[in-house]
Amino acid sequence: MSVSYPEIRLLIDGEWTKGSGTESSPVVNPVTGETIGTVPHATIADLDAALAAAERAFPVWRDTPVAERARILRTAARLLRERAPRVGEAMTLEQGKPIKEATGEAQRVAGTLEWDAEESRRAYGRIIPTDPDTQLSVIRQPIGPVAAFVPWNFPAGSPMRKLAAALSAGCSVVLKPSEETPATAVAIVECLVEAGVPKGVVNLVFGNPPTISEHLIASPIIRLVAFTGSIPVGKQLAAMAAAQMKPTLMELGGHAPVIICADADPVKAAKACAAGKFVNAGQVCTSPSRFIVHESLYERFVEALTEAAKAVKVGNGLKDGVQMGPLANARRLAAVDELVQDAVRAGATLTTGGHRIGETGNFYAPTVLRDVPLDARIMKEEPFGPVAPVVAFSDIEDAFAIANSLPYGLAAYGFTESAATAADLGRRLEAGILSINHTGGSVSEAPSGGVKESGHGREGGAEALDAYLVTKRISHRLR
Ligand code: NAD
Repeated sequence: MSVSYPEIRLLIDGEWTKGSGTESSPVVNPVTGETIGTVPHATIADLDAALAAAERAFPVWRDTPVAERARILRTAARLLRERAPRVGEAMTLEQGKPIKEATGEAQRVAGTLEWDAEESRRAYGRIIPTDPDTQLSVIRQPIGPVAAFVPWNFPAGSPMRKLAAALSAGCSVVLKPSEETPATAVAIVECLVEAGVPKGVVNLVFGNPPTISEHLIASPIIRLVAFTGSIPVGKQLAAMAAAQMKPTLMELGGHAPVIICADADPVKAAKACAAGKFVNAGQVCTSPSRFIVHESLYERFVEALTEAAKAVKVGNGLKDGVQMGPLANARRLAAVDELVQDAVRAGATLTTGGHRIGETGNFYAPTVLRDVPLDARIMKEEPFGPVAPVVAFSDIEDAFAIANSLPYGLAAYGFTESAATAADLGRRLEAGILSINHTGGSVSEAPSGGVKESGHGREGGAEALDAYLVTKRISHRLR
């Protein structure tokens, strides 16, 4: 399949532009290592123009009738669905995931936009009973212009979660997606613009991430900082926001435990775990990543997981039948391999994988590590790659202790046939998201988000707009 990569532009105050500067960075295809595009970097003057546009556009969008805002956003969702095949191709070129996954992601996030747009029509306030002379009410209003920063692992999913919620709530946005996967973000923003989102409501910038975040967060125009990415960067941005007393929405990393209980079917569980583990080459914040298996099932689970890992077809995501692409960048290739080699040095055994595939591109073999010492780095640091470390337990209390031992709490998984055990998992696992007997991903209809250092705030579900709305009490003396 031969596909072309689109030209990348910034969007400032409704104009697609290369910006006022001369700096840029390359977009690299993780399959070939070749440069496929160029991202223009915004200057401080460009950022100021984007901020001013977001400030001007905010009251325009806030005061657009809700039904009209929702109609525009639904139109954008339709455009994105129509364009999903083309968007998917660009995403595979820049990020590496298989084309089916990429196209599916573009289609799925159109659903996120529709869901959030409909939620805007239900952003109810309330009337509080009081005396006959007073009307006491509570309304929920858009917080104001939002600065949003999103990463490269879901080039459509991450920007859309921020854009859909912010726009549905009535906020304007300055969005900085990853410089490594810019084309998908551009395509989504194009749909919004063509659907009729007024100029200045969405501004799209790329550049040097710390320069951009420092400048935007410090600006008094910005009222909310929304970030998806790593915990260290999240902490930096949250600290900058705190200095200005600005609220944040933080969707950070995790290191999801998977407890395979004594009553689970080890082969069924291993197949489900493999499906969840190797999707997007493990570069998912909710990826199952610490497998804690009852000793009675351990051998059968490891064998089935190893078989499933060996069966994953790795290659160029544009080719038919490929199930896992390369890692998205060379940083991850090095980081994943370091964690695997450290685990082996610490005493873990590789049952499959544990090495790069080929010399070109960022391909890493689906990897299973058994008997991993709990003090190996991979049991403490998020692998964000196609690696499954497995450990055994005999007492469920030990499984809970291992699962809850880290400062993270995004996703967790459990496999059990017992409703009572499932309820215990729900009560006791420290995570914002729990899946039982499957490893399926997030849906627009339900909230996602973490506890502990994995962040705060929720995206999706009936909670989708919460971070983007402020609650105002209005007390009206009638006579
Ligand atoms: P990173 O922390 O350098 O970057 C993560 C994202 O944050 C990138 O998109 C980057 O452009 C952006 N970023 C970095 N510094 C920033 C700053 N000062 N201001 C604004 N944005 C900034 O790491 P990376 O090498 O890209 O990814 C490595 C780790 O990040 C992974 O191991 C994983 O833990 C985490 N990560 C998490 C998610 C998630 O969905 N929660 C997504 C991608 C990466």
